[in-house]
Amino acid sequence: MKVTVLGSGSPKASSERCSSGYLLEIGSEKILMECGPGTVRRLVEAGHVPTEIDKVFLSHLHFDHWLDLIHFALCRWDTSGPDAKPLKVWGPPGIQEIVDKAFGADGLLKLDLTARTTHEQSVAIYHGRGGTGARPWPTFEVNEIEETTVVQGKNWRVSFAEVPHHQPYLISYGMRWEIGDKVFAYSSDITWSPEDSTPPPGLAKVAKDADLLVQYVNVFGGGLSGVAQPKNENGLLSMISRCARDANVKTMVTTHQSPHLNKEGVRERIIQEICNIFPGQLIWGRDHLCLDLNDE
Ligand SMILES: [Zn+2]
Repeated sequence: MKVTVLGSGSPKASSERCSSGYLLEIGSEKILMECGPGTVRRLVEAGHVPTEIDKVFLSHLHFDHWLDLIHFALCRWDTSGPDAKPLKVWGPPGIQEIVDKAFGADGLLKLDLTARTTHEQSVAIYHGRGGTGARPWPTFEVNEIEETTVVQGKNWRVSFAEVPHHQPYLISYGMRWEIGDKVFAYSSDITWSPEDSTPPPGLAKVAKDADLLVQYVNVFGGGLSGVAQPKNENGLLSMISRCARDANVKTMVTTHQSPHLNKEGVRERIIQEICNIFPGQLIWGRDHLCLDLNDE
């Protein structure tokens, strides 16, 4: 299995880091995990095209984790012929409403989709790809995730565990992918409290014995303007490091990094904070980082 980081950034617009997006390649299958702004661009830069992907998994509904779903679904549909399969989307409660409001008959995209399925030029392109008759609108199979949800594919399964992040307004799921004898874990976003330094059970559950953990590290400072203050023993970095150590994680990749984390000095402090506690391999995440779980 290969994991390509398509977006290692945050909601902040950045030329270096797109918002959350990851491509998983399992055998010949390609799956998107998260679809934040910039995902489609990075996907194409990495040599892939939307029509190769039928499955998207979303951890939570902050816009920096899903807004490119609309872009992705439109690009995938617009370049498809009559054999286009429905796009399968798994996300927290609320994802069905988003898809309906974007792609429904009276939805946000009504004018565009009406034109692309009615104008003679668009219809001719569709017929040129082998389509006959009226061109259908994009179709979806949407599944709202519960904690008991398990999705299985050829030689893989993914399970979910809720992690603390902006409840009760949103539900956020960490993900645990089991591929053969390998485990790939994803933290989703984590909201931490200095008063409660205990690792969230959901994070510990998805990370257990993971060969690779992609971990949210977006620490915010509380006194220095715009500068991270990672030296907080009860803070996020300590918590995630203890969690990964106790879960026996082999390799941690940092992600969800706002521009202030990349300043010289701040980046090194964060790495030091994590490595003081976590004994495994640490990789500073970046867009286009590609890791193969079969490489030791
Ligand atoms: Zn979030």
